[in-house]
Amino acid sequence: MAGNVWVVADHWKGTISDATYELLAVGRGVADSLGVRLEAVLLGHEARQLAASLGTADTVLYVDHPTLADATGLQASRAVAALASQRAPAVILVATTNVSWDLLGLLPGRLGAPLVNFCRKVEVIDGALQVTSVLYGGKMAVTVAAAGPGPVVLAVLPGTGSAAAGLGAAPPPVEEVSVDLAGDVGVRLLAYEEPEAGDVDITQQEALVAVGRGISSEANLEVAEDLADALGGAVCGSRPVIDQGWLPLVRQVGKSGVTVKPRLYVAAGVSGAPEHVEGMKDSELIIAVNTDAGAPIFSVAHYGIVDDATDVLEALAEAVRKRKG
Ligand SMILES: Cc1cc2nc3c(=O)[nH]c(=O)nc-3n(C[C@H](O)[C@H](O)[C@H](O)COP(=O)(O)OP(=O)(O)OC[C@H]3O[C@@H](n4cnc5c(N)ncnc54)[C@H](O)[C@@H]3O)c2cc1C
Repeated sequence: MAGNVWVVADHWKGTISDATYELLAVGRGVADSLGVRLEAVLLGHEARQLAASLGTADTVLYVDHPTLADATGLQASRAVAALASQRAPAVILVATTNVSWDLLGLLPGRLGAPLVNFCRKVEVIDGALQVTSVLYGGKMAVTVAAAGPGPVVLAVLPGTGSAAAGLGAAPPPVEEVSVDLAGDVGVRLLAYEEPEAGDVDITQQEALVAVGRGISSEANLEVAEDLADALGGAVCGSRPVIDQGWLPLVRQVGKSGVTVKPRLYVAAGVSGAPEHVEGMKDSELIIAVNTDAGAPIFSVAHYGIVDDATDVLEALAEAVRKRKG
């Protein structure tokens, strides 16, 4: 594998995503093992300053074009594909985020390149790339050898690498490159609508109290809120809780919600369906409370309590408050 390893930088509203730093950490390991360079590909318009934090890469390849100002997969995939045909990278890492999904759907087709989706682990073994991909919402993991004559595109799940490890300490060299993006692709961003502005961002909380159908009624949310307050965190929920309108959609954890990695995740009355676990299993410490000792949530929890969710949340809130004085 002679080509370099690329990370497509994912950014929105002037901020590089954590998923990008995670990819840089993963990409650094892969590039070092293959003995090639790690390059970040930054697309945008008047966005060169975003390269400053991408120093885990050896170089940033920056493409500036007015039509790259907003994230649209059609134009972004044209840019990356054109650049790839000039530079022949061996591996292209793209994050599976809202910003990059569009690009991911188009890039492999434009390149005629293989795509490995839902990557959870990317390694180099005996000089060859091996990728573990998570299927069926986490029910199955498959390890494949990823090789092509040309580049291989890897769609990497958030949480695969460490964002802290991928955050560059010093600004990297930036090479501004131009590609032909002339012509109307027919799609442009007209407006961006903020989802339920004003609510908390559960991806940024250090402590989360997640409630599932097992908390029985909306009234019991108060107990969860109380524990979250005591911990300085927030309440989130499984899909049935959101579907019933007990919490807003932005608080849903899982496959069709968001992925969280707090320091503490208390799952109360949550069964641990794969679609939920997919969004929380990388939390640093997981405590599960469930009346059913056989509930699947216990297989991902570090500590388990077989008891009534409301009673345990109440007791925990009291204990936390007592400990804090
Ligand atoms: C395409 C797709 C996407 C999905 N996306 C998501 C997603 O993003 N997030 C998500 O969460 N789900 C998602 N789901 C739904 C998922 O499959 C589960 O149905 C859902 O996670 C179950 O939620 P739950 O654990 O709250 O409820 P249940 O599975 O009904 O579990 C309730 C649990 O509470 C326990 N319990 C009952 N009484 C008590 C009590 N008094 N005290 C303590 N425990 C008690 C029960 O033993 C049980 O384990 C998705 C499904 C599909 C098909």
